[in-house]
Amino acid sequence: MGVVRIQEGRLRRIAEGHPWVYRTEIAAVEGAPADGALVEVRGPRGNLLGTGVYNSASMISVRLLVHGGGAVDDALVEARVRRAVAYRAYFDDPGCDSRRLIFGEADLLPGVIADRFADVVVLQVLSLGMERWTDLIVRTLVDAAEPRTVLLRNDEPIRLKEGLPLYRRTAYGPEPGETTILENGLRFGVDPTGGQKTGFYLDQRENHAFLRRFAAGRRVLDCFCYAGGFALNAAAAGAREVLGIDVSEDAVARARANAALNGLADRTAFEAANAFDRLRELGRAKERYDVVVLDPPAFTKSHSGKDAAVRGYKEINLSGMRLLPAGGILATHSCSYHMAEDLFVETVLSAARDLGRSVRIVALRPQAPDHPVLAGYPESKYLKSLWLEMLD
Ligand code: SAH
Repeated sequence: MGVVRIQEGRLRRIAEGHPWVYRTEIAAVEGAPADGALVEVRGPRGNLLGTGVYNSASMISVRLLVHGGGAVDDALVEARVRRAVAYRAYFDDPGCDSRRLIFGEADLLPGVIADRFADVVVLQVLSLGMERWTDLIVRTLVDAAEPRTVLLRNDEPIRLKEGLPLYRRTAYGPEPGETTILENGLRFGVDPTGGQKTGFYLDQRENHAFLRRFAAGRRVLDCFCYAGGFALNAAAAGAREVLGIDVSEDAVARARANAALNGLADRTAFEAANAFDRLRELGRAKERYDVVVLDPPAFTKSHSGKDAAVRGYKEINLSGMRLLPAGGILATHSCSYHMAEDLFVETVLSAARDLGRSVRIVALRPQAPDHPVLAGYPESKYLKSLWLEMLD
């Protein structure tokens, strides 16, 4: 087995459980390992730090599968897939038939994502390291989760960074078509072959449900609504009137269809528009909402974009707060790992200060628990859901 030696001073992160070795942390590569081969990772004095898969084509040169000693083989991968599926049973809910089954590094399966949408599993294998175990992962998912179909959606451009081709194929069962899922007792249409992410934002399940507490009898604005996850939970909980806004025509069409599917079309409206512009217009028109939800896409995918991201969050949160009277609720989100939680909270609170408004922090909530957080791998904790009540 080849050996990758880590530079002095670059050991701590790995010792704390992080599963990546960056190219820039390597002192030497010994034994000329092929890309995709297993390598031992050792410290400067030869101590074994772990075993992982080597990829010279990626900035992440090694993805560790075990820390310290221990064999990496088919049995290990199969056991991890089974444990990942079994873990989700803790969060079973009769109103939900869909969830993330495998969340990559947080399930000790680097780069592997599996989402269950009713009886369809959408699988993505995004790292060269796991590519060779694709068939085993499919077989194990079929056995442990018993889907009708497994769709392998290896068409994420991030695979190109690993030197992997882009493709999509049905790996088990019949070709999946349009699927209807159940979330918090509501029905949503999902197209497993199209759509954003792997088809639905499962990570917001609990936050969608939390909105119900604040919705009865109220006027609700859902910005960046995608398929209407927040909007329809609000309507189902008795909101008087709900407006959803998303820049994507497809998302808005999907949200309207979902409203109809649940008999909520009479209380909901959806508009295809840029939320930044619409928020400002609604403010100028002196519109008022009792509840405003903001759930934008990641404004930054790297550390360097942080300042622009802060400005983006500041702007939409200022605009959102202007629509809220005293007693109004703001549910504001960031799904970018690079926007640290304390910086996000501080940015939102600074918007309230700029407006001279007092706020109460109602809750600071995480992503749904089927997207678990691995200690030592902070990248797995990415979603922030901050709920404020405007006090004046
Ligand atoms: N709230 C949704 C998930 C939102 S994902 C849920 O709970 O399921 C982010 C959404 O923002 C995407 O649907 C994307 O189309 C939309 N979006 C991106 N830029 C936008 C903009 N400038 N204005 C409005 N929507 C935008």
